[in-house]
Amino acid sequence: MKLERGVSLAPHTSLRVGGAADHFVLATSAEEAAEALRWARERDLPVHVIGGGSNLLVADAGVTGLIVKAAYARTQVEDRHGQPVLIAEAGANLANQARRLAKQGFGGLEWAANVPGTVGGAAVNNAGAFGGDTASCLLSVRLVAVDRTFCLNSSDLGYAYRTSALKRRELGDVAVDRVELRLQVSTPERADGLVKEFNAQRMRTQPRILSAGSVFANPEGTFSGKLIEEAGLKGSRAGAARISEQHANFIVNPGGATARDVYALMRRAQDVVFERTGTWLRAEIELLGRWSLEERVALEGPRRPEPGERTPLGEGSSPPSNAPRPARCESTPSRGGSSLPGARRPARSESTPSEGCSPPQSAPCADHQVAAHG
Ligand SMILES: Cc1cc2nc3c(=O)[nH]c(=O)nc-3n(C[C@H](O)[C@H](O)[C@H](O)COP(=O)(O)OP(=O)(O)OC[C@H]3O[C@@H](n4cnc5c(N)ncnc54)[C@H](O)[C@@H]3O)c2cc1C
Repeated sequence: MKLERGVSLAPHTSLRVGGAADHFVLATSAEEAAEALRWARERDLPVHVIGGGSNLLVADAGVTGLIVKAAYARTQVEDRHGQPVLIAEAGANLANQARRLAKQGFGGLEWAANVPGTVGGAAVNNAGAFGGDTASCLLSVRLVAVDRTFCLNSSDLGYAYRTSALKRRELGDVAVDRVELRLQVSTPERADGLVKEFNAQRMRTQPRILSAGSVFANPEGTFSGKLIEEAGLKGSRAGAARISEQHANFIVNPGGATARDVYALMRRAQDVVFERTGTWLRAEIELLGRWSLEERVALEGPRRPEPGERTPLGEGSSPPSNAPRPARCESTPSRGGSSLPGARRPARSESTPSEGCSPPQSAPCADHQVAAHG
């Protein structure tokens, strides 16, 4: 494992903003990922695993602790009694896989052909587009923790719209090591045709400037982009960042933007839309690093916890007494943006990981060799 210090994270994100990680490991195998997690645990440092950085807003002040980037990316397609399955290591590029497989006549992932980032990040975020999502394709994930490797089925991962038990840090410090995705037998004409159709639609509707994709999740029954556009915010600027003219739910960095610029636009959009419509836009992109508690809480908005609900502020933190408290299903705001050493473990009643990859019925997690990807 090669441990580096003070590594700028901007080049590791799609927005190209943000400061440096105190410590950084480019993990080239599951063993290295586990070693990195152990290294951080032994030093009681926060640790955060990233993939393509296409959904992250890294603080300009950088990140406390260790960032592990999953950079191993072998893939293979296996035939399981007529059911094709993509077995992909965490760092595999999801869109490249979807396009390559479509050309080979495998369907099921066409929706992903333009979703940036890695297979690991998609499994965490439940990435989705055009009516498809990761949760509905995913058979199982193999996870690496400090002291063990284990597999979970899709049904164990608490998937909901753009979130999962992994995203909510319910499993503590784990790295997605490998993902199994269900494919469909199709034809190159059909599958690739669909990819091209989706691609054309993206080209028409989304900016081709540095961004982190949709900034806000769509509220029930409407679209964040529509609400932001109706609030007259298209083209708004903060520093060098701006709300895209093409798609109001994208904040773009045409060059020279800082994380603070992007954050300022996010907050402006939230406040203006809330004032006009009473709808609070929930951030889809994730703050990582040295954001203040106030900044994190402000982004969560004016919601109150349900009676008895845990707040994700982490142990020892309490929000300012007059500040709104975030709701439960958000990523844990914590020192360095990472799960705290005391990250919530699953309660007894919750599904727990099956040890040793014993194959669950619907999602075998056998120990295949994964072939080098083409
Ligand atoms: C132009 C553009 C368009 C986009 N369009 C879409 C879209 O249509 N649909 C959509 O859903 N998203 C979209 N996104 C957002 C982004 O592509 C997805 O969220 C993607 O799944 C993130 O993957 P990533 O590898 O970049 O993850 P990262 O951004 O690196 O990380 C995302 C989360 O996953 C965690 N993580 C990543 N890898 C691992 C791992 N190996 N182990 C443990 N945790 C890990 C991180 O800690 C973080 O919590 C878009 C982004 C851009 C820039």
